[in-house]
Amino acid sequence: MTDALRIIATEEAFATPAQVAAIREVADRTTDYDPDLFLWKRMAGGGPLTDALLDLEDQRIAIMDAAGIAMHLLALTSTGVQMFDTATAISVASEGNDLLAALIERRPDRFAGLATVPVQSPADAVREIGRVVSGGPGLNGVMINSHTNHEYLSERHYWPILEAIEASGKPLYIHPRAPTKHMAAAFRPDNLEYAIWGYAAETGLHALRMITGGVFEQFPRLKVVLGHMGEGLPYWFYRIDYMHRLTGGWEETTRAKLSLTPSETFLRNFAITTSGVNWDPPLKYNLEVLGPDNIMFAVDYPYQESHEAADWIRSAAIPEDARRKIASANAERIFRIDVKAEVTA
Ligand code: MN
Repeated sequence: MTDALRIIATEEAFATPAQVAAIREVADRTTDYDPDLFLWKRMAGGGPLTDALLDLEDQRIAIMDAAGIAMHLLALTSTGVQMFDTATAISVASEGNDLLAALIERRPDRFAGLATVPVQSPADAVREIGRVVSGGPGLNGVMINSHTNHEYLSERHYWPILEAIEASGKPLYIHPRAPTKHMAAAFRPDNLEYAIWGYAAETGLHALRMITGGVFEQFPRLKVVLGHMGEGLPYWFYRIDYMHRLTGGWEETTRAKLSLTPSETFLRNFAITTSGVNWDPPLKYNLEVLGPDNIMFAVDYPYQESHEAADWIRSAAIPEDARRKIASANAERIFRIDVKAEVTA
């Protein structure tokens, strides 16, 4: 309806043939139930969702055009390379990053992208960030799909990765996956491990662990992006701050001393996207709590519907200056998307 709202969608998934092959291999030899493999077991013979993930320039661009979406900020679909052995993770990540860089070079008007890194091997992850984010094609940040082997980035052996991302001046997008083995059982009845609740519980806990674990004391300029309206965290700011203060002196607590409250840390270091939540009330709430500069539009293609999301952001009951920021201006600033590329769109 609105004529010229420039829309950049910031949590859009793709896959490479090598990633699909590697994840099918993991699925084939895994006999225990693993919620992160559910989708791939269902997609074993291929099908429309696999096709949509593998397609980059045909059906995808037609769907973007029909919905009025100028650009996709792409990243390898969850769980990236985080379920693979280290050697496979390194090769699938670097090949995927090269493919993404070549696509962006061909179509800078339509695509930007986040690098995938082999989190399993922090030294290799740091090298890959140097190769494709800080240097080389200069991808727009890094995506990590929550836990790696049931560990969070609050664990110190992952901090070299965070140091390299902070130094790049580009963000870390923490995307969901199903809960760790430590919390999975409680989600299993009624299949609550997935996007219905488990993803937000897992990813919200991961981000909170990074805050309370002192990650942002060490890396005060690290920018972290969370999807799904902030995975619920902004809604809990008052109680998180209150209880963090109240329980900080308890003997059982070994948590790091913070110079800011958890919510102050979030407001300084985090941005959120609207992925998967095309609904005014949480958008208005987040506009009030976070302000208009750290909220970005996303669809979650191909898992959710592009037209519905784009129509929603064009018509949401929010001020026009906030709409322009959320639709594209914040993404251009935070992900350092080259807006000169826009002219051919
Ligand atoms: Mn997603």
